Amino acid sequence: MDESQEIRTDPRPPVLSIVMPVFREGAQLASFLSAVRSATEQCNLPHELLLVDDGSPDDTWLVIEAEVTNGRLLRALRLTRNFGKESALCAGLEHAQGDAVIVMDADGQHPPSLIPDMVSLWQSSGADIVEAVKRKRGRESLSSKFGAQLFYFILNRLSGFDFKGASDFKLMNRKAVDAWLKMHERNVFFRGMTVWMGFTTVQIPFEVVPRSAGQSTWSVLKRLKLALVGITAFSSFPLHLVTFAGVVFLGISVLLGLQTLYLKLVGRAVSGFATVILLQLIVGSLLMISLGIIGEYLARIYEEVKGRPRYLVKESIEPNQISSAKETSDRMLGLERHDCS
Ligand code: UDP
Ligand code: MG
Repeated sequence: MDESQEIRTDPRPPVLSIVMPVFREGAQLASFLSAVRSATEQCNLPHELLLVDDGSPDDTWLVIEAEVTNGRLLRALRLTRNFGKESALCAGLEHAQGDAVIVMDADGQHPPSLIPDMVSLWQSSGADIVEAVKRKRGRESLSSKFGAQLFYFILNRLSGFDFKGASDFKLMNRKAVDAWLKMHERNVFFRGMTVWMGFTTVQIPFEVVPRSAGQSTWSVLKRLKLALVGITAFSSFPLHLVTFAGVVFLGISVLLGLQTLYLKLVGRAVSGFATVILLQLIVGSLLMISLGIIGEYLARIYEEVKGRPRYLVKESIEPNQISSAKETSDRMLGLERHDCS
């Protein structure tokens, strides 16, 4: 029997985990958390809120501690430094204990009002993953919009998977989370890896709203790096492209060689210093690009081979009870797993 069906026939209500990576969100975190809390309460399910502070240099951790001091129930992990959003997501997924885990951004761009809809769609459809799909990308610069489109075009073509509209706002059931956690790669591309798993997915559209405060901490370089991780993790086509380009150039060289030989035989030697320089430049840059592509894959392999943990936890806040339902909290305490970091 399908595990999602098992959950529905379970007499105990499923436990919901909300996982959020947070980095430099101190300014608006408290108000966002209260919106998340009221949306989550509408689901009428026992729940936990799990925040992963990705080494924020601002007062984010203080805000989280203040929430706890004020009697709000939440769990939190503080990473030793900024490991990046994908690593913070790993930490959250590894520590979440719910039967369904909702992953969302803490900057207000993923509307908390969608949480009850996602949960009811999960319960009614029996799907393993409920994916919030961007209907309209939020206010973005033209270059960022174009960059994202180009990235997804290349990625979809190369990998054969459809990642269009995929976002990091999703609900995954326990089966999907456990399967996701079995993927031990260091170079994490969360949305790509969830599509790759191939579990039953239903989609729910949402509109990306502008950030509540602050600005995106993703620099062009960070985005480019994630794009490279995404492409190299899901396709080895660029490597084949190097071979293909080599073969094409070999063919052209043979043809040119034959033409030169013919011209020499009929007494008309090929002239042109500029042609030689141009050819050298073309071949030189192609060689460098090829080496670069191979280097990208080597770098990925190098990082994987080192086998370092994806993140390290500095401290954590673990309340003794997770949701209002006592029976459920007892069950969840029994579920406590070891720190995988
Ligand atoms: N984030 C993180 N670590 C980082 C950068 C971002 O945990 O190094 C978190 C951030 O706090 C937010 C989410 O990831 O909750 C999305 O970040 P951001 O809004 O900067 O990205 P964008 O929406 O521009 O893709
Ligand atoms: Mg954002």
